[in-house]
Amino acid sequence: MNGPEIRVEFAPELRLFVPRARSTGTALTATDGVSTLGHLVESLGVPLTEVGALLVDGREAGPGHVPSGGESVRVRPVEHPQRVPGAPLRFLLDVHLGTLARRLRLLGVDTAYESTDLGDPALAALSAAEKRVMLSRDRGLLRRRELWAGAYVYSTRPDEQLQEILDRFRPALRPWTRCTACNGLLRAATKEEVAQQLKGGTQRSYDVFAQCAACGRAYWRGAHHEQLEAIVERAVSRSAQGH
Ligand SMILES: [Zn+2]
Repeated sequence: MNGPEIRVEFAPELRLFVPRARSTGTALTATDGVSTLGHLVESLGVPLTEVGALLVDGREAGPGHVPSGGESVRVRPVEHPQRVPGAPLRFLLDVHLGTLARRLRLLGVDTAYESTDLGDPALAALSAAEKRVMLSRDRGLLRRRELWAGAYVYSTRPDEQLQEILDRFRPALRPWTRCTACNGLLRAATKEEVAQQLKGGTQRSYDVFAQCAACGRAYWRGAHHEQLEAIVERAVSRSAQGH
């Protein structure tokens, strides 16, 4: 290792990003007198989207601080709930997070998602253009400077992923108001308006219909509804408890 060293201690939540700090939570790294603290933390493996306060010898410092040898740095996780000022809270999900995208839409959270891979540059540009928080498990994507804002998704299980995002950002929930297929807003529809999309049994059994104003897809209280109802109920009750 070249140059004077600094000691960097990571909060437990961040240790998964830093293999060599996994057991002790601490890594030693060389400073070159030019690189910023943000750059050093990122090059140790932690996406800056996950970093909260940075303490240098006990005093809060910004990511632009240039450390000098012998300093001791503590890296805290981002605070929950996390506020993203400057635009209404809305999300953009990468191609691997389709189930999470549908669940967020089910809860009425504005969620952009394409089932084809747009590629990192296009996703980052979209996040910037539409001021959407990029959600991903891809650290390379989260490092892109063009992003409006981003967040790493820690879990691989959709149930946990949903809870994670709800706990972290506390978006306002408006269940059953968005199309889970395209993110469009739903409007009430009559049975006649959606008749061509209904199978005979559906036509007879249900009276409550909605239709996506963007793609025209029909919605009714039908198949899988109980499972979706359970997802909504869990999310709404947790949100009411202030989790
Ligand atoms: Zn739609």
